[in-house]
Amino acid sequence: MTALLLLVMLAGAGWAGLVLLQDRTARDASIQLQELSQSYARELRARLAEATATVQSVIIYDAGPGGSWLQQRTQRAASIRGVVVARTPGDPVGPLGALSASEQMALSSGSTLLIAAPGKGASQVYLVHNANIGATTVVALFELSSEWLWQGLRDSSHGGSTLAVIDSGGLLLDSSATLSDEELAQLVRERDAVAEPAEHPAPRSWITGHRAWQGTVGRVVPGSVHLVAEPWSVLAYAPAPTLSSALLTVTEHLPWLLCVALVLAAVAAWYLSRGWELTLLELRHSLRGLADGRYERIGLGKSRDAPRAVAVEFNRAVGLMEERVRALNSLNDIDRLLLESGDLEQSLDTVLGLIQRITGSHNVSLALIDQDAPGHARAYIAAAAAAPIPVSRISVDVELVETLQQQRSGLTVLRCEPIRHSFLEPLRALGAEFFWLWPVCSQERVVAILAVGYKSAPEVPPELASYGTECATRLGVALSNSARDEQLYRQAHFDALTSLPNRLLFRDRLAQELTSAAAGGQRGALLYVDLDHFKKVNDSVGHSAGDQVLTIVAQRLRSCIKDGDTVARLGGDEFTVILRNAGNPDGALRIANRIIQSLQQPVSIAGRDHFVCASIGITMFPDDGTTIDELMRNADLAMYQAKAGGRARAVFYDRQMERMPPAAESGLFRALRRREFSLYYQPQYSLRDGKLVALEALLRWQPPREGMRFPAEFVPAAEQTGLIVDIGVWVLETACAQLATWRNQGIAPERLAMNVSVYQLRQLDFPEVVRRALEHFDVPAKLLEIEITESVFADDEARSTMRQLAMLGVRLSLDDFGTGYSSLGYLRQHPVQAIKIDRSFIEDIPQNDTAATLAETMINMAHALGKVVVAEGVETSEQLEFLRARRCDMAQGFFLAHPRTAADTTELLSARQSAELGLSRQTG
Ligand code: C2E
Ligand code: MG
Ligand code: MG
Repeated sequence: MTALLLLVMLAGAGWAGLVLLQDRTARDASIQLQELSQSYARELRARLAEATATVQSVIIYDAGPGGSWLQQRTQRAASIRGVVVARTPGDPVGPLGALSASEQMALSSGSTLLIAAPGKGASQVYLVHNANIGATTVVALFELSSEWLWQGLRDSSHGGSTLAVIDSGGLLLDSSATLSDEELAQLVRERDAVAEPAEHPAPRSWITGHRAWQGTVGRVVPGSVHLVAEPWSVLAYAPAPTLSSALLTVTEHLPWLLCVALVLAAVAAWYLSRGWELTLLELRHSLRGLADGRYERIGLGKSRDAPRAVAVEFNRAVGLMEERVRALNSLNDIDRLLLESGDLEQSLDTVLGLIQRITGSHNVSLALIDQDAPGHARAYIAAAAAAPIPVSRISVDVELVETLQQQRSGLTVLRCEPIRHSFLEPLRALGAEFFWLWPVCSQERVVAILAVGYKSAPEVPPELASYGTECATRLGVALSNSARDEQLYRQAHFDALTSLPNRLLFRDRLAQELTSAAAGGQRGALLYVDLDHFKKVNDSVGHSAGDQVLTIVAQRLRSCIKDGDTVARLGGDEFTVILRNAGNPDGALRIANRIIQSLQQPVSIAGRDHFVCASIGITMFPDDGTTIDELMRNADLAMYQAKAGGRARAVFYDRQMERMPPAAESGLFRALRRREFSLYYQPQYSLRDGKLVALEALLRWQPPREGMRFPAEFVPAAEQTGLIVDIGVWVLETACAQLATWRNQGIAPERLAMNVSVYQLRQLDFPEVVRRALEHFDVPAKLLEIEITESVFADDEARSTMRQLAMLGVRLSLDDFGTGYSSLGYLRQHPVQAIKIDRSFIEDIPQNDTAATLAETMINMAHALGKVVVAEGVETSEQLEFLRARRCDMAQGFFLAHPRTAADTTELLSARQSAELGLSRQTG
């Protein structure tokens, strides 16, 4: 730019110089022309004066005949070429023609006349004077010598200018160059244009033949008093100087000019390159610094013009870059902080400080909107040079929040409105007047507002909006994460139904309590709470009512403990309570009893009262155990003791309980929860027609990764722990469900038998449980056969239960007949429809006579009492034949059929059905 300006200026100066030069040349030329015409005019005057003097000197003499004497006298005068004499003054005077009156008068007064006349080629100039030839006055014409008069006119070059002399009549007397008529006419016009008399030659300029001319008009005034003449004009002129002519003048000085220009150029080059060099050096240095992460500006002191502009631009770019990198670093810091700290609120102070730095603001606030009360929020504030500001509760305008939702790139607030922007009050109180807001969104919902405050409307960098949006996005992600973390944590650690800690969190807390108990020496208690008869609620009013009951139970449990203690739900109707600092066992027992009492209050669901009570096992730590599993097993054992002891009670763990078959008890408990039990079915056939009459359901336990277990291995333990009650309910329901399925398929046998333990019969509600199961699966009571053992007769509670079962219409049979202590009297008294002769009596028939007699007696005796007889454990055809011959009604045993799975039994039943159908068609 500067260079261009310099060029233009140079050109301008050159042009102006040229114009000035041209002007100057014109003036010089004009002066030269003036001098030329003036000097020539002077010369002419002198010559004319000389010629006049010559004429005057000879005229006093007689002219001689025809003027011959005059001729002789002037022969030697260079100025006179010849003399002609006219006879009278009135006659035409030779080539001059007639003289005018005034001329004649001047002649007669003795004056000399100067007259020019056109001649052949050039004009002739004459001096005219009266002369005397004798007494006669004549007029003598002295022709002036042209060579003499005009000498120096033609040959002198006059520096390219032209000299022309014209008389008053416009006759060209002579000129240094040949003139055209047009040129002559122009000269006459120029001469006429000059006012008379002129002291000095007057300058003129004109244009002819497309050329500009300049010249001067001088006058030749007669230099002698005797000479009478009209004045002549001497014109000196030359072409007017042009630019090119001016240039030509310049070229004369070209070498010098070139030298000066070169020196100037060198100086300018040095000056310019010095400016650039410094700037470039600094640029290089600064760029190196940039690569190393330093943002150094270039000094402007020494650089000028273009380098300065470059430096200013560079500095601006470096400034912007530095600002952006700083912002990016701060954003990175924010990312790191948010990623590293699990808790957003903990890192918020630092994060807000960083946001303040990025946005260059005076203060920053983050208003976390309450999700359950959208008009309210918690404000976190960071301000320049202010100590941490406590979190404050503020209200936010719901409409503004909606507007913000559409404005991810932010909104500015120049003037705070009292209600709409009340949440900015804390920032205003800290001195901010101008605000920029961004929505912080999580899952498309505004969850917070990020606001930055400035003391005055800032010179907002274009990046501010995007920086703010970036920060808001990061906060949004962090808030979503923490919300999700919270949710995931809740899902993983809390029971969805009751919001109580789940098994995982329970174990975690118990582990903590065990550690602190071990360290601090204080005592804690673990309570295992299992609801009694909760299944009844589910069965009678449905699962959603059951869920409501569980929720209420959870609330009651919570209300029974103090802060710091834990109530957890392990699943189903099992709860645990951790009592920290339980002190002595009495304290734990008091709380357990409080729980039992509180749960015994009826629970009203949909207008119906439900009664749930709980059996609680208590174990103390670290006294009873130091590991979670140990304590859980203890509490579990104690809880089953409570159940076995009649429910709705709390029982302390006692090492005595360990004597129960260890593999069985806790394994059984798990087995029931994990559905590891199944039922196998063994057919009973009629010995009269060989038809399948009934099936007996037999319990099997399949622990994972172990072999199948048979009832003899675990039923005694189940009976000891009381678990047999719950297992029994499962058997009842499973058997009824299966029977219902077979009934639906049309393949059901006449009866389905199941075994019950005397422990089950001691449960007073057992008949009710059976009734409900039958009702639930829509199975007629007479299809169900319950096998009891002789021990029932020795137990009052069981006996009464048995009677109630009989009243339901359920068929009863006496299992393992002959092994217990029953009497015929019992058989007669009680409503037992069948007896099953124990396998040990069948084993030895028919070869062993005693056995054969015993079996035969049993059959006869039972028949006598009107009971149906079933033989168990029939393993051979001989046994079968013997029994048939002794009119035993039915037989069951491996010889006839092994117990089999439900699926295999279904197959068997279907096959039997088609066989019977085929048979009936044949007979039909
Ligand atoms: P049980 O009621 O007398 O059942 C007959 C037992 O004799 C069954 O043994 C059956 O598999 C077996 N058995 C059947 N035919 C033969 C045979 O020809 N030879 C031999 N050696 N054994 C035969 P399991 O299933 O092991 O049951 C044993 C006992 O466990 C049952 O005797 C019953 O008292 C009890 N039990 C079975 N299921 C249940 C149940 O669901 N609840 C209760 N409380 N007790 C059950
Ligand atoms: Mg049986
Ligand atoms: Mg038996």
